Amino acid sequence: MNVAILGATGSIGRNALDLAAAFPGRLRITAMSCASQVRVMAEAVRVHRPRLVAVAGPGERRELLALLSGLGVGEPPEIVCGAEGCAAVAAESEAEVVLSAIVGLAGLPPTLAAVERGRKVALANKESLVAGGELLLPLARRTGAEIIPVDSEHSALFQLLGGLSCSGEVRRLILTASGGPFRGRPAAALEKVTREEALAHPRWSMGPQVTCDSATMMNKGLELIEAHHLFGLPYDRLDVLVHPQSVVHALVEYVDGTQSAVLSPPDMRLAIAYALSHPRRWPLLPGSSGPGLAGFSPLDLPGLSGDRGGPGNLSFELPDHETFPALRLAEAAGREGGTAPAVLLGANEEAVRLFLDGRIGFLDIPRLVSQTLEALPAEPLADLAQIRAVSVEARRLAGSLALKFAGRRPVF
Ligand code: NAD
Ligand code: MG
Repeated sequence: MNVAILGATGSIGRNALDLAAAFPGRLRITAMSCASQVRVMAEAVRVHRPRLVAVAGPGERRELLALLSGLGVGEPPEIVCGAEGCAAVAAESEAEVVLSAIVGLAGLPPTLAAVERGRKVALANKESLVAGGELLLPLARRTGAEIIPVDSEHSALFQLLGGLSCSGEVRRLILTASGGPFRGRPAAALEKVTREEALAHPRWSMGPQVTCDSATMMNKGLELIEAHHLFGLPYDRLDVLVHPQSVVHALVEYVDGTQSAVLSPPDMRLAIAYALSHPRRWPLLPGSSGPGLAGFSPLDLPGLSGDRGGPGNLSFELPDHETFPALRLAEAAGREGGTAPAVLLGANEEAVRLFLDGRIGFLDIPRLVSQTLEALPAEPLADLAQIRAVSVEARRLAGSLALKFAGRRPVF
């Protein structure tokens, strides 16, 4: 399977490269992109030898060429730059599937480029669906592009449903959420939490944006919007359950009251591998066909018990909307539709950036998002240019609204 990876140096991208290193006969990387982590890219190019690489700009291109020469890579790949470079990676002709794993709204244009060309897309970049789902899914239907979710909850639902469509026998879909590092704490205790605390996710190892979004529960709100577009169900038939062990990733409830679930260790390599191997499964566990993935062991249900040093037996609870208002903010923006999710995303990306820079407090994140949504009423969605414009405006507005929080927040 030939793969082009958008965002190859990120958490998802590196997990995909791990898979390619473990299964060289099954997976070959023909193209990859990154923004500016040129050192990580140089090493990845040395190992995987793609034909085409995209980096942020000419400076990164020069740096990468110098690093590759230092690493003894005799024939460097073609190196292209910027948003056009990402679009070229999305269109690379030898790739049979494009893994869309850029973080943020920057992932939408190359994802659209891949879908426009009717490519198979393994979609990790949830922002593409959140802001652009109203464009992306109809476009995929027109071009015949296959979209396979990589986000673990949506991968689980895709596996349970055998695809993206829900039969009339499906009553509702349930996404699980770990609850993040602040589960169980009252809102007052979150006013002064630090960047380090917010980034210390108890179960998953991910990039900073999605980790912080998990701490606010915005991530689960974005995932509701993602599920709405992917599986075509109204929000009334999409639910969230907090499940701190992150072993059950999603459930399907049928009209007869039966629920089925997907269980696995919390390791994104499973969801990435499934998106690439679908409809088959690769032997990630050691067995007769090979050693499997390094550091990967099967789910040990009895071993989950706290008595045996595990995260505890499987438990489920309802989300605490008072402490984590971002979940409802996102759901409301999803229900509103049009440009509202792009406003939500733009404001949230800016608020998370300001929080991670120590300029605003943790609880200011949903405050800023809520105020930005109030100030920018939703419009019907027209095209990518409108999404870009709306998101830039939401970022700008959230940034200026933040000034009034910044003065009274501890800077850590
Ligand atoms: P990350 O921050 O670790 O990596 C992001 C990648 O995107 C890097 O390769 C970076 O160079 C590239 N990038 C960043 N900004 C860019 C820009 N403006 N233009 C081009 N490239 C740019 O992010 P991640 O955690 O790997 O997440 C990637 C996507 O997958 C996100 O949409 C996230 O929500 C989704 N996701 C991630 C996980 C996870 O386990 N990390 C789980 C589920 C979904
Ligand atoms: Mg997820």
